[in-house]
Amino acid sequence: KQAGRNNVTTFQPDMEETARTRSELTMDLRHAVFNRELSLAYQQQNDTVTEEVVGFEALLRWSHPKHGNVSPAVFIPIAEEDGLIGSIGEWVLREACREAASWRKPMRIAVNVAPSQLSSMELPSLVHSILLETGLKASRLELEVTETGIVADQQLALHVIRQLKALGVRIAMDDYGTGYSSLSMLQRFPFDKIKIDREFTSAIGTTPEAEAIILATVALGRALGRPVLAEGVETAAQLAFLRKAGCREVQGFLFGMPTGKAGAARIAGIRRPVSRLRVADAALIP
Ligand code: C2E
Ligand code: MG
Ligand code: MG
Ligand code: MG
Repeated sequence: KQAGRNNVTTFQPDMEETARTRSELTMDLRHAVFNRELSLAYQQQNDTVTEEVVGFEALLRWSHPKHGNVSPAVFIPIAEEDGLIGSIGEWVLREACREAASWRKPMRIAVNVAPSQLSSMELPSLVHSILLETGLKASRLELEVTETGIVADQQLALHVIRQLKALGVRIAMDDYGTGYSSLSMLQRFPFDKIKIDREFTSAIGTTPEAEAIILATVALGRALGRPVLAEGVETAAQLAFLRKAGCREVQGFLFGMPTGKAGAARIAGIRRPVSRLRVADAALIP
């Protein structure tokens, strides 16, 4: 059950059902936060050379009472369109920061930020108050933004990103290579990291073009002083290629599937002694 809950999609509406299901999902999504149907899965990120865990990415999960797990790829766009992303995004940020603040090891937590969140002037002050409230150090929070999140209103996005960086928060460019991938964006925006999309990683070994793009992106990242992380690493051969290419970090099923908060805390170390008491208590039960 644990694996099923945190795994990638199960529910994909077919064409005929799509319209009806969509409006149904929109209504259900309104209650999802309140009904505690949302949760976060955490996927580790590893140093390519030492293979150590350096952080986690928080990935949103929706356990729908009727449809089971609905993929964020399906419901995030709905939340965007319906104006629900603000409250959902705030819940995600608070939950992820609170969780990371409870870890013993000061690992990084990466949180995805939707385009409309990035074009809200209120995002920096929201992040600031969540950091104060949870006690998470700003440098441990990394916000993942996508190219589409930036093209909508570049001026505004740049303003918001600068304010976030002033707080000490890190910014990662997510899904690099799949959107506009404009080099001027890399020039204008102060990203701390470039995340190469799984599309390229999965083509290692079969598509020379993808390999060339990865090598060029890693070289570009190095020249710009920005570490590169490759997403969707599933095989040892992909890891070997990325290590040789000089890619700093990796994320993917090879190292770990997204796991629940207990799984992440096992790796990151639990600071509160509470859980140890629980274990001791449990041992007393025959
Ligand atoms: P993403 O940010 O690029 O997240 C990576 C996705 O790739 C995740 O899918 C993850 O489970 C999957 N993945 C990781 N490693 C592997 C691998 O080795 N092989 C394969 N086949 N897949 C892998 P997921 O969790 O379904 O999320 C899909 C997208 O939904 C995310 O892409 C992100 O754009 C969006 N998303 C997820 N959580 C949030 C959130 O809290 N807020 C926002 N705004 N978007 C979110
Ligand atoms: Mg991401
Ligand atoms: Mg990504
Ligand atoms: Mg991706």
